[in-house]
Amino acid sequence: MATAQGKRKKHNKNQTPESQFNYNLNFYSKSKDLRSAVSLYDAAVSNNTRLSQHHFNTLLYLCSISLSDPSTKELALQYGFRVFDHMVANGIKPNEASITAVARLAAAKGDGDYAFDLVKNMGAYNELPRLRTYDPVLFCFCDKLEADKAYEVELHMESMGVSLEEMEFAALLKVSAGTGNEEKAYGYLQKLRKTVRCVRDETAKIIEDWFQNFECNGLELDVRLVKEAVTRNGGGWHGLGWIGKGRWVVRRGNVDMGGKCFCCGEQLACIDIDDTETETFAGSVAGLAMEREVKAYFSEFQDWLDKHANYESIVDGANVGLYQQNFAEGGFSVSQLDAVVKELYSQRGNWPLIILHNKRVRALLENPSHRKLIQEWIQKEVLYTTPHGSNDDWYWLYAAVKLRCLLVTNDEMRDHIFELLGSNFFLRWKERHQVRYTFLKGNLKLQMPGPFSVVIQESDKGAWHVPISGDGNEDSTQGWLCITRPSACGALGEDAVSMETSENGHGVCNGSKLLSPCKQKCITSCNNEPESQDSDNKPATMAGKRKERSPSPS
Ligand SMILES: [Zn+2]
Repeated sequence: MATAQGKRKKHNKNQTPESQFNYNLNFYSKSKDLRSAVSLYDAAVSNNTRLSQHHFNTLLYLCSISLSDPSTKELALQYGFRVFDHMVANGIKPNEASITAVARLAAAKGDGDYAFDLVKNMGAYNELPRLRTYDPVLFCFCDKLEADKAYEVELHMESMGVSLEEMEFAALLKVSAGTGNEEKAYGYLQKLRKTVRCVRDETAKIIEDWFQNFECNGLELDVRLVKEAVTRNGGGWHGLGWIGKGRWVVRRGNVDMGGKCFCCGEQLACIDIDDTETETFAGSVAGLAMEREVKAYFSEFQDWLDKHANYESIVDGANVGLYQQNFAEGGFSVSQLDAVVKELYSQRGNWPLIILHNKRVRALLENPSHRKLIQEWIQKEVLYTTPHGSNDDWYWLYAAVKLRCLLVTNDEMRDHIFELLGSNFFLRWKERHQVRYTFLKGNLKLQMPGPFSVVIQESDKGAWHVPISGDGNEDSTQGWLCITRPSACGALGEDAVSMETSENGHGVCNGSKLLSPCKQKCITSCNNEPESQDSDNKPATMAGKRKERSPSPS
């Protein structure tokens, strides 16, 4: 009975109130016009118009996106909760989108507890939370320095199988820094290390702040023990906790082509997965492939590979053959593939293995100008043809992992099938095994894995190196955070350490012994530090600097 309210309802009178409401709501939603949507809603309420889940969600979403505008924030909060209560009272089931919108509203009001309860009770609606559902409550607790509650959210996310990403770990690191929780901060740095390769600038700033403000005096560990842990982990981290004592020096800089840090002179590590991880990884690739491919075909390939285990490089044939072929006469370039095969042979003295789908191989064999070369590849066992209906990605990936080979492909392997593998082994593996390539004016250039890994690294001396995401421009140099503890790196450091630890009477010997290998380098680099330029008296500078301990950079 209720019909249009006001002048905005200008269309067809034959429409039902519901469809009219729907039409207008969509219009206001598209134009992000919260005020009009609210009047529409009020009218609908007084007219008893029946609203659907979609209507409620549209209203909630509109409220949640209106929070960022100070002129609509109050209205959004006021109506958002009213709409949600109305929805529940009418027996309309909220879904993940509704809960996420309301969680955003609650967080904007600073009511993390309400948002968290909402998310925790989603099961009642048979809805599963996603990362975006947790974000408002997690960031709300982190902003308010309610660290324990934030940690509880993380636990809940884990229990629901929701993986945290860089932003979430950065927020948790920040709240741990804000509350001075050294153990947690260490843990989140490690989690960040496992999750991303390069950090965003915002995250880099949080890491800088942490190290500039906390000494986090570390464990006295036997140097051998630390080195063993690093080796066991495949290089690049030990995970044993903070090492060394005294203030950190945090710098931004670059590393040279060979991986030596320009700031501190430390050599960055080449990080590969270890033997056990390789076997586990190969096993999980095979397991996933078996679920998705014809089992018999894939086992046949595994058996074949066991008997042909001498390859050093695997070539993703389709990726190379189709590279830059999106022009009119483009097709499958056998000559590109041939160039890659020859280049690998000349560099390594060993024929690579090309993996190519049988429909492709059949077509190439039908072409007289390619037949001879393809037959030669088959005869030399340079080519493995994957069977009808297969996804060759599984074949080249498995071969490269299992045989610890280089893998020639420009495929960044971000596809959903690779997501199944998780990022833990995969990113590290890719870093050491993927060979990218270009054909500039027809000339092939293979980009071999670098002599060091561009990932967050924790050295056996306790230093940290953190790569920062660039601007996307491949030519710009990779920026790094270099975080060292000069006090533990040499003569200057020994003074500092002995002063520091004289109260409890231990640590000096261990500390200096642990870090002595980098003595020479560190003395040099400590001298180069901008902060110590104000004095020639090195020990005094160091000691003075440590005593001042003001977090303010001025
Ligand atoms: Zn460095």
